[in-house]
Amino acid sequence: MALEVRLFPCLSDNYAILVRDQLTGEAATIDTPDASAILEAAERLGWRLTRVFNTHWHPDHAGGNAAVQSATGAIIYGPSEVSRIAPLDYAVTEGEVLELGASRLTVLETPGHTNGHVCFYSPEDHIAFVGDTMFALGCGRLFEGTAQTMWSSLSKLAALPDETLVYCAHEYTASNARFALSLDQDAVVAARCQEIFDRRATGKPTVPTTIGLEKATNPFLRASVLASSLGSFSSPDEAFALVRGAKDAFKG
Ligand code: ZN
Ligand code: FE
Repeated sequence: MALEVRLFPCLSDNYAILVRDQLTGEAATIDTPDASAILEAAERLGWRLTRVFNTHWHPDHAGGNAAVQSATGAIIYGPSEVSRIAPLDYAVTEGEVLELGASRLTVLETPGHTNGHVCFYSPEDHIAFVGDTMFALGCGRLFEGTAQTMWSSLSKLAALPDETLVYCAHEYTASNARFALSLDQDAVVAARCQEIFDRRATGKPTVPTTIGLEKATNPFLRASVLASSLGSFSSPDEAFALVRGAKDAFKG
């Protein structure tokens, strides 16, 4: 494996994610939730940050761009929407291949949470950095996009190979698990939720997950199976909209 990844919690429920190309030692941060935590971690690891890869414009993802750049000189890549709130050097678009040393990350546009949201995918290393598009047992809220655009973005991620490691940007999994259990009687889902509660009880992260695990247990990806108890629908994106609406209203 050419890419090495380190994840650690920061802010209230974000993950900072650092990634390093082992061949050249070049490293990047996926988003900049907390510049000082990211810079300290890079220092401690001895990793040289040369790139920032932003997934979307929200302050808990791009708010540390200026501070990380002024400390490291890293070049900032992300969707053009980032420039609304933070420095951006290079606006990325669908299918572009970005280099990190000798490693490569493909840009996948995944609108829905925001209109410009992107994910970064390494087919060689089977890793996807998905920002706030997909969470373990969850998905991002629809702040800018429609259920239809989010559904097609989630479907794009679900089409990646099952073994793909999925690095989400937040630890929302225990709350997502409580919602999943409110809808789903599946034994595999129940077992996973128990494992999540146990991990969280000891403060362990539930990220990364995998595409295969999400396809089997994530209520948003299982919307067509689960949504009949919530209302009527005639297409997968309508089923997804019902599940998203139920989660938005869920207190638990
Ligand atoms: Zn966000
Ligand atoms: Fe976020």
